[in-house]
Amino acid sequence: MSRLEAVLRPEIRALSAYHVPPAAGLLKLDAMENPYRWPGELEDAWLASLRGAELNRYPLPHPADLVQALARQAGVPPGCELLLGNGSDELIQLIDLCVARPGACVLLPTPTFSMYSLIARVAGLDVREVPLRADFGLDLPAMLAAIAQHRPALIYLACPNNPTAGLFDVDAVRAVIAAAPGLVVVDEAYFPFAGRSVLPWLLEFEHLLVLRTLSKVGLAGLRLGYLIGHGQWLREFDKARLPYNINTLTQLSAQFALAHADRLAGEAARIRADRAQLLAGLGALPGVTAYPSDTNFILLRLPAGRAPGAHEALRRAGILVKNVHGSHPLLADCLRVTVGTAAENDALLAALAAHLTGTT
Ligand SMILES: *Cc1c(COP(=O)(O)O)cnc(C)c1O
Repeated sequence: MSRLEAVLRPEIRALSAYHVPPAAGLLKLDAMENPYRWPGELEDAWLASLRGAELNRYPLPHPADLVQALARQAGVPPGCELLLGNGSDELIQLIDLCVARPGACVLLPTPTFSMYSLIARVAGLDVREVPLRADFGLDLPAMLAAIAQHRPALIYLACPNNPTAGLFDVDAVRAVIAAAPGLVVVDEAYFPFAGRSVLPWLLEFEHLLVLRTLSKVGLAGLRLGYLIGHGQWLREFDKARLPYNINTLTQLSAQFALAHADRLAGEAARIRADRAQLLAGLGALPGVTAYPSDTNFILLRLPAGRAPGAHEALRRAGILVKNVHGSHPLLADCLRVTVGTAAENDALLAALAAHLTGTT
């Protein structure tokens, strides 16, 4: 046995790394980023807010002002608290690490956000998957049967779901939470584009956790996510958190961004409006099904066998989208595209139309 085999956990060796393709010089419509940057005068004000930051000192371990500002903006229900993470990915990791007793499992309706499964495996959790219905809705009877059979310590429900882009039926989400013997994390990464939240349900369910992030509204580079839930859970997770997980520049920048929250909300509204246009345009392409979206991206299904070629043709045309064909049986022939600026969406439509009609 090699030293690698002797020392490393076999689950780690069995993983494939999360792949981020090179994007230099490409129009980036693969990662659900907000396409808008701050104009010059706002950028100057932001940089001024960083001046004097004491980078020789450790960051605040509990940035109370930032937590309070986020809590106020989100509308955290009474009796609940908010925990910050270096992106919501870090909070997923933190929760997984805290529940990963031997034999514990995570239940996932799939296809869903690929990090749930990757992080769970790294944490040593078993992963149980229940396929979504063909219309990408939750298969409630199958979910309830899996809950009864596996007694999951943790269930992740992305609402809206990535990469399928829609919200699950609200009653089905509620039934899953009510039946869960452990924790349920409802991941609302796309809340600003959906307008529906389970946050008020925290008043009823003490085993519910709600995850949010600033990444999809325009601050992916900051790495700031937050978890809302009852203090009895969050105080335990906080013990396992690394003390300085939110760096000084992120703390200051997030405060600045929150002071300009109306700007981010305006961009989200614009993206929602442009999403409707893009959806109509994609749906009008020959043989293409564009699925309804409650997010800042659209899932589309191309004629059979065409997704890899279209992905490659778009890249040659300078546009990076995500090819999800092959990642799950329900995603055969599918691409996932981020809603960009109106001009970017037009470029995407033109390039995809040219490819599908054979003019390139
Ligand atoms: C993008 C995404 C995230 C990642 O959020 P970060 O805060 O950038 O780590 C979390 N959940 C879902 C469902 C996502 O699509």
